[in-house]
Amino acid sequence: MTIPTPYYLVDKTVLLKNLEKISYLRQRSGVKCLLALKCFATWSVFDLMAEHMDGTTSSSLNEVRLGREKFGGETHAYSVAFGDGEIDEVIANADKVIFNSLSQLERFHNRTGGRPVGLRLNPQVSYSNFIIADPARPNSRLGEWDMARIEASLDKISGVMIHCHCENGDFDAFSKILAEIEEKFGAVLERLDWVSLGGGIHFTGEDYPLEALAERLKGFAERYGVEVYLEPGEAAITNSTSLEVTVLDTVRNGKDIAIVDSSIEAHMLDLLIYRLEARIAPDSGAHNYMIAGKSCLAGDIFGEFQFDKPLSVGDRISISDAGGYTMVKKNWFNGVQMPSIAVRELDGRVNLVKGFTYTDYVESLS
Ligand SMILES: *Cc1c(COP(=O)(O)O)cnc(C)c1O
Repeated sequence: MTIPTPYYLVDKTVLLKNLEKISYLRQRSGVKCLLALKCFATWSVFDLMAEHMDGTTSSSLNEVRLGREKFGGETHAYSVAFGDGEIDEVIANADKVIFNSLSQLERFHNRTGGRPVGLRLNPQVSYSNFIIADPARPNSRLGEWDMARIEASLDKISGVMIHCHCENGDFDAFSKILAEIEEKFGAVLERLDWVSLGGGIHFTGEDYPLEALAERLKGFAERYGVEVYLEPGEAAITNSTSLEVTVLDTVRNGKDIAIVDSSIEAHMLDLLIYRLEARIAPDSGAHNYMIAGKSCLAGDIFGEFQFDKPLSVGDRISISDAGGYTMVKKNWFNGVQMPSIAVRELDGRVNLVKGFTYTDYVESLS
């Protein structure tokens, strides 16, 4: 079966490699790993992921429901702010509830029906190359940092969540930040049952010292007598997914430009927000092309790449590492056809699992 482009292609064989590293880390360190649904919520592959992860964490009512219904395992509910009208349904779907602020904790802790309750802490240190993604940025609203105020509410919580990394592939940097967290919050951690260290640790990357991470996490858990969670999003799915597109036209204006049946703004929005280029493989050859999207946005550009022959209409291009923060953000800008979702099974067969139609476009507005 040939699937019409554009489509996202999730390759379970690559996904499994990440998941096996997650399982290894869990076994070596005793930590639990919860998938952060805000990064990746393509539930067709949750059956495979659930074999290697302990459950999910969420940032909204919709996500916590999805985690409960489609992933199973342990379901954590977190939100920057819960609303009065959603909190009961959030709690009904959650095994643990984590509040972002002491005021949310005060407001809702009586409604949690005996479930373990946590509070997000902001250690005021972080690893992030982007200010927009830095939880410890100046005037951050993400988590509490004042020890005196936190200690006064300790009787209401059994754990904390500290998320302060973004794509951190540097183990030493992680370990140093953890040491600062221990320094700052150690007295609180000793009195808790569980600590989630959030996501953003790129431990499934090539050459990441997994063994050292496992040791560090195990030591941390033992020192404070806590159960430790990680919340990987990107690390769980990195490199597992491509965006498959087709060249619709080629034009020239100082450079050769190929226009494809997709759009960076609609289908890989994260690249636009972070001003990053897409990647394609192998990206080698004598012919340089700017690959651009078909929306009206002048800057709808995936990047410049090398090809071994001139591109022409109908040529297929595969954009790499298009799984994280892409499908969860896709939109109907310009009415561009939304990419289907396909899965390459472990035996190599490719199945189309979702297609989008004009009706979906119409139904997305009123
Ligand atoms: C975004 C986020 C994650 C996942 O981050 P990744 O960088 O995708 O691993 C985990 N926990 C919290 C609280 C988050 O906000």
